[in-house]
Amino acid sequence: MNNTNFDIIIVGAGASGLTAAISAKRKNSNLKVLVLEAQNKPGKKILVTGNGRCNLTNINVSKEFYHGSFDTAPVLKRFSAQRLMDFFAALGLVCDTEENGLVYPHSRQASAVLDVLLMEIKRLNIEIVCDCRVELVRKKGGSFNVKTTKGEFVAKKLVMSCGGKAFPTAGGSGMGLDVIKNLGHKITPLSPALCPVQVKSDFIKSLKGIRAKAEVTLYDGSKALKTESGEVQFTENALSGICVFNLTTILPKARNPIISVNLAKDYTYIELLNLLFERKRLFADEILEDFFTGLFHKKIGIALIKNVTQKPLSEKCRRLSDKEIKLLASLILDWKFECRQCKDFAKAQVMLGGVNGDEVNRHTFESRIVKNLFICGEALDVCGDCGGFNLHFAFASGIITGENL
Ligand SMILES: Cc1cc2nc3c(=O)[nH]c(=O)nc-3n(C[C@H](O)[C@H](O)[C@H](O)COP(=O)(O)OP(=O)(O)OC[C@H]3O[C@@H](n4cnc5c(N)ncnc54)[C@H](O)[C@@H]3O)c2cc1C
Repeated sequence: MNNTNFDIIIVGAGASGLTAAISAKRKNSNLKVLVLEAQNKPGKKILVTGNGRCNLTNINVSKEFYHGSFDTAPVLKRFSAQRLMDFFAALGLVCDTEENGLVYPHSRQASAVLDVLLMEIKRLNIEIVCDCRVELVRKKGGSFNVKTTKGEFVAKKLVMSCGGKAFPTAGGSGMGLDVIKNLGHKITPLSPALCPVQVKSDFIKSLKGIRAKAEVTLYDGSKALKTESGEVQFTENALSGICVFNLTTILPKARNPIISVNLAKDYTYIELLNLLFERKRLFADEILEDFFTGLFHKKIGIALIKNVTQKPLSEKCRRLSDKEIKLLASLILDWKFECRQCKDFAKAQVMLGGVNGDEVNRHTFESRIVKNLFICGEALDVCGDCGGFNLHFAFASGIITGENL
């Protein structure tokens, strides 16, 4: 590259960086804009979103779905789901809204979302340099000197849209955060979120691969912190599924985290007790292994029985004592799993923590510490629940950043 001087350098060609580049260039086509991307291709993370279908926003988007020190209220006021869908419609992307307000491309292909963004990048003559990791930025005079693995660049304005540490195989490295820290910003502690939660349980291994409708509640000791409903997935050593993922956004707040799984949320204790006594009568001559047949997955039924009695599974159901039936009813409504804090970013969809929200203007995304430095997307200390909220923030914050460059 002959000319290494730019009006704007954008670090990271993800959801927020690509939209920042588009909106900056649309505002002023004379600007020289360069996007630097550490990966060999732009937008790798977009491709893995929503199981390859990309849940790009949610029509119910509001502040309550976000966590962290960055206040999302002004962004969401200015940037509704409809505005984002209009932005994409103008690029040729047709979207549909599913149950619970989740918005997907009509083709259900995440690649379609990336393709329309890259087509616009090309139309606007924006240059993206891949395999180019930004290692250090120094502010000299009024400009930013950007040191990369492909040489040094200079820019009047710098956008750090470098994401976080989640899902390293799609670019989550945290390297960009070190660059921002070097420029003088505080980074609030980082932890993985929207990921499976490892639990300490003698029974979890036997439930591997099973899914069950349930209500899950995160407790700190005996204090309930958050409840979600949906499908719990049991893995070899963890609880997973969207409802569990949504508990992880506040998991670090719990010193003694416990997840309670309620497998019969539509029943009261008394109703469930009646149901179980009725089953004991109906299945009196069947074996304990089959006590829950027709109600729960066989392996869940066996784990429940083994939890409350030492009796062999070949014992007749009539041998269950009243006390054991009561224990079963309590367990079904409140099956407690002691949790470990999430430590591994490999399976995390997002990162909790990031650039301290108080240090960035929430209307323009300009740093309050370094003039002409802008920070947007997941690099900020903001994390949304599952359901399109994270991409909504990444896209919206990128577009607003571009408008303010
Ligand atoms: C498996 C998975 C599924 C998901 N599904 C959904 C979903 O359906 N809906 C939803 O709303 N959200 C979803 N998310 C979350 C969503 O993808 C992210 O919140 C969003 O992509 C963040 O966008 P971003 O631009 O801020 O960061 P990123 O997309 O992470 O982009 C940052 C880019 O910066 C580059 N970079 C970092 N440091 C440097 C550096 N030093 N130099 C150069 N380049 C650098 C990275 O390589 C990366 O490409 C999912 C995430 C994962 C991992």
